[in-house]
Amino acid sequence: MDAKHIITAMPKVELHLHLEGSFPLESLFNLINKYGGSPDIQNVEDLKQKFEFTDLTHFIETWNWKNQFYQSPNDIEEMAYSTIINLASKNIVYAEVFFSPWDFVKSEMPFNLVIEAVISGVRCAKQESPINISLIADLVRNLGHQTAMKRLNEITMYRDNVIGIGLGGNEEAFPAEWFSDVFIEAKRRGFHTVAHAGEAVGANSIWSALKYLQAERIGHGVRAIEDPVLLNYLKEKQTPLEICITSNLKLKVLSSLAIHPVRKLFDKGILITINSDDPTMFGSDLNDEFLLLFDEYNFTIPEIQQLTKNAITASFADEPLKTQLRLIHEEFWNKTNYC
Ligand SMILES: [Zn+2]
Repeated sequence: MDAKHIITAMPKVELHLHLEGSFPLESLFNLINKYGGSPDIQNVEDLKQKFEFTDLTHFIETWNWKNQFYQSPNDIEEMAYSTIINLASKNIVYAEVFFSPWDFVKSEMPFNLVIEAVISGVRCAKQESPINISLIADLVRNLGHQTAMKRLNEITMYRDNVIGIGLGGNEEAFPAEWFSDVFIEAKRRGFHTVAHAGEAVGANSIWSALKYLQAERIGHGVRAIEDPVLLNYLKEKQTPLEICITSNLKLKVLSSLAIHPVRKLFDKGILITINSDDPTMFGSDLNDEFLLLFDEYNFTIPEIQQLTKNAITASFADEPLKTQLRLIHEEFWNKTNYC
């Protein structure tokens, strides 16, 4: 098998992707038509074009535009279901998926109906596919500390179905330190913790996520490359970074593939993992991200194997599931010849 076939076929683990940015295009197209269609969207190709955006503001506008079509719990359930089935079709065997149910809450669709629809869609997909999924609730920075605490309280009711909490959103305007007590309390309640940091803001934001949020993993973290002391710290502690290359380019965190530090971070011995962030929005799934490593950054197949092992180690899966994932990984590589 050549590299592309191996990457497609290999069992993969993804730790950083957002449910609301990972739906199959066909399912959104069907949903738009269910609600009367949109003049500029005549087919799936138009939808693909719609997800070509110019900057972060345009990205957020497009994100909100597509969210308006999810108008009932059934729509949410179908989104969760079709997304997970699609991940399984890419040979992803385990994923930790961010979701933010509050994006869809309105008077006629309260929080409990939204989250129960997500949980139900995920459960149905898991029954039909060889994939394990854990949900991480993204509290989102942009509405401030009080809202984050309120959201933590709401999500705690569903602790059995939600493995951790995350903190996405505007990293610059809403620094990690504002959310310290929310994260400490979340830990006390048994949630794992992860925070987006070192994406829009530099290394200081990563230090803050480690210090004030006690984040177990860092979402993105690419700008750790700007601080040698931080790099040594991350290496020593083996704090995982969730690297999302295409996302960084599309959101202009980095100006070109050539300057992305993924190779340097790996060579330095940082525990990096490879992820797609919002595969539908960015037009690149986990297979594409691994192929980029091979084509653009000279990662070898054994190094790509190591990245999957990293993802298993960095995951919030319990030990029996980690053992199971390592077995699936080993079985695949034992029977695969690379040429
Ligand atoms: Zn993200």
